[in-house]
This record gives sequence, C-alpha cells and structure tokens, in this order.
Amino acid sequence: MPELPEVETVRRGLAPWLEGARILSVDLRRPDLRFPLPAGFRDRIEGATVRTLSRRAKYMLATLSTGETMIMHLGMTGRFVVEAGDGVTAPGDFYDDSPRLAAHDHLVLTLATSDGRPARLVYNDVRRFGFIDLCSDAALAGNPHLASLGAEPLDDAFDAAALARLFEGRTTTLKAALLDQRLVAGLGNIYVCEALHRAGLSPRRKAGSLVTRAGAPRAGLERLAGEIRAVLGEAIAAGGSTLRDYVAPDGARGGFQQRFLAYDREGEPCRREGCAGLIRRFVQNGRSTFHCAACQR
Ligand SMILES: [Zn+2]
Repeated sequence: MPELPEVETVRRGLAPWLEGARILSVDLRRPDLRFPLPAGFRDRIEGATVRTLSRRAKYMLATLSTGETMIMHLGMTGRFVVEAGDGVTAPGDFYDDSPRLAAHDHLVLTLATSDGRPARLVYNDVRRFGFIDLCSDAALAGNPHLASLGAEPLDDAFDAAALARLFEGRTTTLKAALLDQRLVAGLGNIYVCEALHRAGLSPRRKAGSLVTRAGAPRAGLERLAGEIRAVLGEAIAAGGSTLRDYVAPDGARGGFQQRFLAYDREGEPCRREGCAGLIRRFVQNGRSTFHCAACQR
C-alpha cells in the first residue's frame, strides 16, 4: 500500500499536469470505487479549474475553482496515468513494468493543462480500494477522511516535543502508536519499521516509555522524530519504494526499497555498522514487523 513518500511522489508527478488545468469532460465508467462516487460528481467537477494539488497524509487534495476540493486516496493499487496528446508521452509508456488494463480504467478526465496542452488523466485501480470524494472547502477540516488525522510528519511543527505530547502515558507499543493515523498520519508498515531500526528502538517498546515524567522527550524519542523525517525525505528523493503494485506517475519505479535496513529483510544481516545481529520478523497487530533484536532496544 502506498505510504506517504509514494503518495508524495505521485503528487509531485501529477502537479505539473493538474495545477492550473481545466477539467473539460469527465468519463465515469462505474458508479463506485471503494465507496460510491459523490452524488453529481461529473457535474460538480466538469468545467472546473484545478488550483493546487496538495497532500495530507496519504490523501491527495485537488483544490478546485468551484470552492470544492477533490480528495483522492490510492488504496492498494490505485494509480493515475497522464496521457498527453502532444507526442512527448505516448499512452501506455508510463507503465511498461506492469501493463495497465483498460478494464481497470475507472475514471478519465479530459484536461486542458495550464499551458493549453490537451491531456487525459486516467484513474486505474485493479483492486478498487482507492476512492475519490468531493468536499466543500469550508467543510474540509471536518471531512470524515481528514478530521481525525494526526500530526503530519513533514510539517515544521513535527519534532520530538510534539511526539512526546502524543506518546505521553501511552502503553501501546511504538509500532502500534506509529501506525495509528490519529497520532501520526501517513506512516505505514515499511517506514515505521525503517524509522524504528534507524532510531535503534524496539518495535515492542511502550510508546510512553520514551517520555519523561515531566512530559519531555527522552533521547530515543529525539532520535525517532529525526529518523522519521529523514527516512521519509530520503524515500521521497528516491521516488518512493516500489513493491508489487506501486509505480510512480511517470512510470519510474521508486528506488528506495534497495535501501531498506529492516523491512522485508528477514534472516539477512543487520546493516547497522558494528552490529552482528540478523533481521527478524514477527507478527504484531496482524502485520509483519522486521527488526534487529541486537541493536533495537
Ligand atoms: Zn542490528
């Protein structure tokens, strides 16, 4: 499932096409994705201009000239494909690693980009766990998808003190706390495993144990806050991680999976300098946790 770096990679790939583009027509090929598309969807977006394409956690937000925002979530296998008719990018070239089947093209927007080029934005989703919603800008903060989201790890305000406020008194494990989207938004299994390994913290450790009685972050929490930001930043710079189903909008496969220290490395030597441990896997909250018991305490 795409996590924050993959969604941010998609956003960066789409923004030059979408920002300033006018939606000329909407070809809606089914009434639902994971959820039904919003009532009157076609009429509400046809003719609109996309002002900005931003991201909150794993959601992309297209602010429209109509006073509404289109909320897009990729689910497991959702992907957007830009087909430009100018000959620079031919349809299908984006995804030569995993051919896109037209049967899974669920939504096609015909666009005039900000510089007047014709383009088609196609939403393709094999498993249909993704979804698209529309919400008035005035009601956006209270939108059910967004309202309960926790701290945005790439915000300037995200630091050890902010994590200490979130973790204080919590008896859940670090792994569970970091996966809880109401506390920290956008992290999934991969980047939680990686951040905990880099910070030298056991995924089994209680989140509250990293906060002093006075509510201040302990040294481990300082490391964790820094490593969360570092691993996300490095993953975005690498174009995300390519697993089975994730490909960035330009068709480039992300390269960060080659730099995993823990995730998906069961039985392999720990990559921390001077550590002789092996990466182990165990199931935690129904998900595989990868860690090195020798250097993660
Ligand atoms: Zn180790």
